[in-house]
Formats: sequence, C-alpha cells, structure tokens
Amino acid sequence: MKSPVILILGEASVSIAHQIQIALPDSIEYGLTGRTQSVDLTFSKFSETVRELFSQGHPIIGICAAGILIRALAPILSDKRAEPPVIAVAEDGSAVVPLLGGLTGANELANSIANALNIRASVTATGQLRFNLVLESPPAGYDLVNPEYAKSFTSDLINGATVRLIGNAAWLSQSNLPFSPDGTHIIEVIESDRSIDRSSLVIDRTHLVYLTNPTQGKLAIIGTGPGAAKWMSPEVKAIFQSATDLVGYKTYLDLVGNLAKGKQIHESDNRVELDRARHALDLAAEGKSVVVVSSGDPGIFAMAAAVFEVLERESKLEWQKIDIQVAPGISAMQAAAAAIGAPLGHDFCAISLSDILKPWEIVAERIAAVAQADFVIAFYNPVSTQRTWQLTAARDILLKYRSTETPVILARNLGRSGEEVRVISLSQLTSDQADMRTIVIVGSSQTRTIPRSDGRVWVYTPRNYQGISER
Ligand code: SAH
Repeated sequence: MKSPVILILGEASVSIAHQIQIALPDSIEYGLTGRTQSVDLTFSKFSETVRELFSQGHPIIGICAAGILIRALAPILSDKRAEPPVIAVAEDGSAVVPLLGGLTGANELANSIANALNIRASVTATGQLRFNLVLESPPAGYDLVNPEYAKSFTSDLINGATVRLIGNAAWLSQSNLPFSPDGTHIIEVIESDRSIDRSSLVIDRTHLVYLTNPTQGKLAIIGTGPGAAKWMSPEVKAIFQSATDLVGYKTYLDLVGNLAKGKQIHESDNRVELDRARHALDLAAEGKSVVVVSSGDPGIFAMAAAVFEVLERESKLEWQKIDIQVAPGISAMQAAAAAIGAPLGHDFCAISLSDILKPWEIVAERIAAVAQADFVIAFYNPVSTQRTWQLTAARDILLKYRSTETPVILARNLGRSGEEVRVISLSQLTSDQADMRTIVIVGSSQTRTIPRSDGRVWVYTPRNYQGISER
C-alpha cells in the first residue's frame, strides 16, 4: 500500500494530524499553503490535489468535512476493488468516518486512526459492523478465490444464513460471523502452495474459498519503552499494527492496551524466557507475524538475547526462513536519567542483580571491577521477592571504592502510574528502598548534584574528567 496522505486545511488541525501520524508512521502530512505551518508538504488546490493523490493510489485522510472529499472525488470513482481508502476526520478529532475503500482497508485504517484519537470510528459498512470483517477483503496472506460471490454471501448472512468454517484462520474464527456446525453456507480455508489447481476447487455462491499463500513468517522482538505509550517508537507501533500474534509476559502485554486488540495473545510467566522464545519462533515458522514484547529495550536484559540463544542452540530447519527483526526501545536507565538530569553523561555500565542466570560471585566481582574503574552503574532487577539482600551487598562492595556521599538515584514505575524518582546517598542505600519496578543508578566519583528551586536536585555526570577541559 502507498503511504497514506493526511490533508490539512488549517493550523487548528495540525495537532490532530500529528497524532494520526504517530499511529501511521509512514503517512505524509499535506497542508494548505498559507493556512498551515509545520507540515511535511504543502498544496494550494484542494480538489486537484485530492484527485491526483487518489489516482496514484494513496489512502486519503482528510481533516475536513466529508462532503468536500466526496465532491472532489465523485467524478473519478470507478473501481472499488482497486481504489485506495478515503477517510474524513473531524477538525477537532471527534469523528473518523470511512467514506470509500471498504474493500481496500478503509475500515481497518479508520479504526487505527480512531484508536490514536481515543474515539470509535463511525463505521457504516454492515458486514464490518455485524461481523467485524469484510469477507471481500481478507488480511494479507489470504486470497479469496471467488470474490464475485462475497457480496451476496455477506447479505445472506445478514439475512439469517449461518456458516460452517472448514480449516483454520484466526481472523475468521475470532470474528462475529454466525458460525454453526450445520451452517447453510461454507467458508473454507485451504493451505496452499503455488501448485494448487484452482479449477479443481468446489466453489459457488454459498461456498467461499480462501487460499493461504504460504507467507514468510515474521518475528519482531520489540521494546515498548519503560511506560508503554509515550515512549514507544513509531516503528514499534507500526509493527503492532501488522502483527497477528503477541508473545510476552502478561504485565507487559497489559501495558500495550489497544495495540493488542484483535491479536492472538500468548501470555507467559516471566521466568520461562527460553520457552517463550521457542514458542515465538514456532509461531513465526507457521507463517504468523509474531511480536515478542519486552519492556524498555528488547536487547537489554530482555527477550532479544533469549530468542537468539534458542535460535543458535536448537537451530531448527523451519526457523531458518523467518524474517527476524529487533526494534529498539527506550531502556529504563535512559528514562531514569532523563527524569533527574544527566547521570549517564560520562562512561557508565549496566548490571543486572538477578542471579537467576548467573551466580552471585560473578555479580559481586563485576561490581567491584566497575566500581574500581569508576563507572556510573545502572542496576537492573535490584530486588525481587526472592532477591532481598543483594542490593545491600552491592552497596557494601561499592563503599570500598566510592564515598558515602555518592548520589544514588532510585527511579520507580517510570512512565507508568506511581512514577517516583528519588535521590539518596550511597550510605543510605538498602534493599528495602527498591523493588522489581525500580532501577537504581549509582554515580561515579565525578557525579554531581545541583539544587533546584523546589528543594529537589538535578544529578549529572560531567563529560570532562577531573578538570580536563574540553577540546
Ligand atoms: N528491557 C528492560 C529491562 C528489563 S529487566 C529495559 O530496557 O528497561 C527489568 C528491570 O528493569 C526491572 O527490575 C527494573 O530494574 C527495570 N525497569 C523496567 N521498567 C521499569 C520502569 N518502568 N521503571 C523503573 N524501572 C524499570
């Protein structure tokens, strides 16, 4: 699909357009010359521009009255199966109306925009409303063999017919179609490869057949950022849109909220990371678009390494073709640093205090080594119900090399409700100051605090070292 175009007629609509653009990262903002600033491109003649972009196949999102879009496009409408979606969005973001392109994804696009604006799309297509799908426009990877019957099939169902499903497809089985084991109508899903002889298929007006093209499975290992919504990258949001299956720890999946809607969810316990990685690879090998969800960054004490570990160790043949992608996120240490100033301004390291995957002796040796080397240290997984003494023990090691007054940042629930960021001195650090939702940053010998007018402090680590001036 070509990039969606957001048409903006006045500066008042620019913020709505920006919100839409976050949900549709490849969209382009077009603003009316002289009436809009801070847009990607400008235009001067509305109707001509709309017609041109529509003819080129760009989905059109007009932040304007439905009527002016209809009048601009009416003279050139010809092929509902080929033309791009057209959506009207009210200037104040209070309504999203799919006008054209129900067969080319208008309802889905309208739903994504409405989600971004925290409203419901004004969907008027009966099939979509009743059944939550359009039989004529299956999702990517499915090909309807007899589209000419889809319309009458849909109206039969609207008028009381029932349907029996043969084969598997989550988008069908999870829809609101009136399924019945002895349905009057049949929908059949056939797993196919290129060699299938289409003329041998049994199809008629009460029997729709979808072929699944064996699509290459995808596995995206993504990070939602520490707090999910505001720190989630546009790339990650786009990956969620096209996902079929989500794999992750329940708490993280709960945090992604609306983005999980309509996806097959595979929750698991936080401790069984390798099982989760294996399960995700198996789903992708079946052709699914799988997203493995981590909080923060997926490559920092999180799932990305677990996936590669299983991939290398078990190297199953069917995993080889999976398209694997790692999409970065803001890690807890970055969010904590930003909340308090710039404590990671000079050399730093990150250590997980979890001793599930490594013995405490190694953790202790590492803390001593980096303390001696005068790194700022970000401690992940500082405390858990089973891990109660390690943070205090880490402090005791640090105190051999650092002053008791070294600033320590305790940042809890960053980006989530209950966010709290405190600064204490190293001598005050004990395990009961933190929990598993806290990240602890211990300053180096150079880390400094600056008082603020409200009684709190900024913490930063200067980039120059012990008086060496910048060149
Ligand atoms: N991949 C994650 C880290 C996972 S390890 C990231 O890059 O941030 C889990 C640890 O991360 C927690 O024990 C805590 O120390 C830290 N953490 C994760 N999210 C946090 C948040 N919202 N606020 C504070 N600390 C957080």
